[in-house]
Amino acid sequence: MSFHIPYGRQDIDNEDIQAVINVLKSDFLTQGPAVNAFEAAISSYVGVKYAVACNSATSALHLACLALGVGPGDIVWTSAITFVASSNCALYCGAEVDFVDINLATYNISLEALTEKLIIAKSSGNLPKVLIPVHMAGQSADMRAIYALSQEYGFKIIEDASHAIGGSYENSSIGSCKFSDIAVFSFHPVKIITTGEGGMAVTNNGILADKMNLLRSHGITRDPAQMQSKSDGPWYYEQIELGFNYRMTDIQAALGMSQSKKIGGYVLRRNELAERYKSVLRGLPITLPTLLESNYSAFHLFIILLTDGITKSRHLEVFSQLREAGIGVNIHYIPVYLQPYYQKKGFKKGYCPNAEEYYSRAVSLPIFPNLSIDQQDFVGSKLGEILKP
Ligand SMILES: *Cc1c(COP(=O)(O)O)cnc(C)c1O
Repeated sequence: MSFHIPYGRQDIDNEDIQAVINVLKSDFLTQGPAVNAFEAAISSYVGVKYAVACNSATSALHLACLALGVGPGDIVWTSAITFVASSNCALYCGAEVDFVDINLATYNISLEALTEKLIIAKSSGNLPKVLIPVHMAGQSADMRAIYALSQEYGFKIIEDASHAIGGSYENSSIGSCKFSDIAVFSFHPVKIITTGEGGMAVTNNGILADKMNLLRSHGITRDPAQMQSKSDGPWYYEQIELGFNYRMTDIQAALGMSQSKKIGGYVLRRNELAERYKSVLRGLPITLPTLLESNYSAFHLFIILLTDGITKSRHLEVFSQLREAGIGVNIHYIPVYLQPYYQKKGFKKGYCPNAEEYYSRAVSLPIFPNLSIDQQDFVGSKLGEILKP
């Protein structure tokens, strides 16, 4: 479906195009010097020691779970409102998944629900091995409090920062891993910067970085220190784990490297548009996203909630009328556990009441660096018309 105004769109300039052309003319097409340079650029941008570029955030999440030892018999928790990849990654490892309800103001994992669930899990002996908080729409979850809980209850933390590169929490860049073991970014075209498809796991822990590196490329090592046998010769390598081909290409990394120079500008522009939405949408019967003082959001998404108690059919009507006007609104996301695949695992409607209420009221409005003022005004006036009593 192609809309006059999509909810999100990449911005590719001539410099980006030239960077890709340069790689196409070079000796390396897949993982090579451009991947190393892109990893170095992102790790220095967010202030973290190690970065592992992958062919998607989904594969980066999978590697992150494996590096933390997630496997059969383990439980991984994530937010009920996220893209399915945040929970599928645990299932790939043979672990179980469970969901924590959200906070209706921030759309992030609810600290109260998390605390309550941890107390119950402790008493029944099924605490999670890993928690995957999601920085929904680009706003960090309350990482200091989540980290404190992880110390008390003994779980590890993977931040799903797919929406959030360029944002910050307590003045540290999202991805600095101050309060987590690993953080993951996505470079899908609707996200803050893009490599077409791509993702990256970042960490300050060298052991986790080495594990993710190894598993990214078949579990194969060329480092004599990691080998079990003596080398047969210069061609020799050893497969010491069962890994995957999750490598990013140099073509993608060159695009990412070029895009990475623009993170600050993109996120600033997104914040200006978000601020401007406040006046564009003033007086409408909707709730705007709540930003906590500790946060600078990357504003991957601008999500409004329609009036409390709105009917399902009215929500659908507002959504459809916006789309008919050429405005590519979307809903991020359907509560993951309501997906048929997860319902088959036993999850039922009613499991996370806030997530379900959110889902019945949420609409993602267009926000991306090249959204024009006129387009934004059009969104505001259309929504105003549609919501007129
Ligand atoms: C986009 C997204 C992913 C998956 O990213 P890919 O790079 O497409 O694999 C995972 N989690 C969240 C929250 C996302 O928005």
